[in-house]
Amino acid sequence: MAERIIPLIDQRASALRAAVPAQPIAANGLLSDTLGRPLRDLRISVTDRCNFRCSYCMPKEVFDKDYPYLPHKDLLTFEEITRIARQFVAHGVRKIRLTGGEPLLRKNIEVLIEQLAALRTVDGRPLDLTLTTNGSLLARKAKALKAAGLNRVTVSLDGLDDKVFRSMNDVNFPVAEVLAGLDAAQEAGLENIKVNMVVKRGTNEHEILPMARHFQGTGIVLRFIEYMDVGATNGWRMDEVLPSAEVVRLIDAELPIVQLEPSAPGETAERWGYRNGSGEIGVISSVTQAFCGDCNRARLSTEGQVYLCLFATQGHDLRSLVRGDATDEQLASAIGHIWHGRSDQYSQLRASLPADSGSGARRVEMSYIGG
Ligand code: SAM
Repeated sequence: MAERIIPLIDQRASALRAAVPAQPIAANGLLSDTLGRPLRDLRISVTDRCNFRCSYCMPKEVFDKDYPYLPHKDLLTFEEITRIARQFVAHGVRKIRLTGGEPLLRKNIEVLIEQLAALRTVDGRPLDLTLTTNGSLLARKAKALKAAGLNRVTVSLDGLDDKVFRSMNDVNFPVAEVLAGLDAAQEAGLENIKVNMVVKRGTNEHEILPMARHFQGTGIVLRFIEYMDVGATNGWRMDEVLPSAEVVRLIDAELPIVQLEPSAPGETAERWGYRNGSGEIGVISSVTQAFCGDCNRARLSTEGQVYLCLFATQGHDLRSLVRGDATDEQLASAIGHIWHGRSDQYSQLRASLPADSGSGARRVEMSYIGG
């Protein structure tokens, strides 16, 4: 049997120091990268810790009690995050997603949400402020999150069968508590709730139809994610990927669906609507179908490094600027300079990479840069 775990190579320390360019780059919302892609979406990882040990993300064998999680002093404070986010917004960001690790593990996360909710886009509108969570603490926190200004939430859930779910989260966490979290999110008035299901062939593909039946007609959009070769520890293998096209075929055979228009440029999910009008599903095909052409996302790691692609091997360190004496203008210029030089299109180039590059042996972990 192929070895499942690939030794960890810690790439976190090797960030490039963000430079302030000699010619200031104005933050006027008009920034674009070398491929003409604007900056619209910022994902912020607020912790590299998680209370789940999903084997495709933070396998127990690697993320054990000896794993070198970031010390608290290395984490960006809420004020530092907001200061950086403000400059990203000035460059055109309209949507901010808090993620991790498990973002609801970060103490007083509502305080950060309040600060971010006060930011305004270049044209004076509120941000689209959202959060991705494993749902384990959502029943307790949904009301406070909504009150702090969170607009919506995405909950990760890989199956409805309790045994399958407990084994996939690998900490024996019951599915009923995540479902209670979803109910609480709906009751709290969080809108546009999504559920993300990572599909692993041979592990939870039999959960696709029960999940579709369960969420059809609830207003919650279920999205199926292809198991990706992110990070360096999940021992990814192509034969465990179930292509989205198969998911669509499977659902369509029992619950007829039709393809819908994308809701926004750079949208990661392809949308499909139930023909009987009872809602929609999405498929995210980052393995079988590249979608780099209009990717407008940047990621800010827990300790303040900017990553320009989920599959990047190196970040750009902004924390040293923020903790140094850089002005807001210099910070904005540095961010502008980083985005200006961006040329990443990993998913599209994947086909031309060597066959073993799927191991991702030199990539940073998703729990660190944020999924
Ligand atoms: N802890 C939060 C959660 O569970 O949603 C946020 C962080 S998690 C890294 C964000 C998303 O990435 C989750 O929906 C998770 O299922 C997904 N993810 C993690 N590893 C993945 C992989 N190898 N392939 C596809 N999706 C993955």
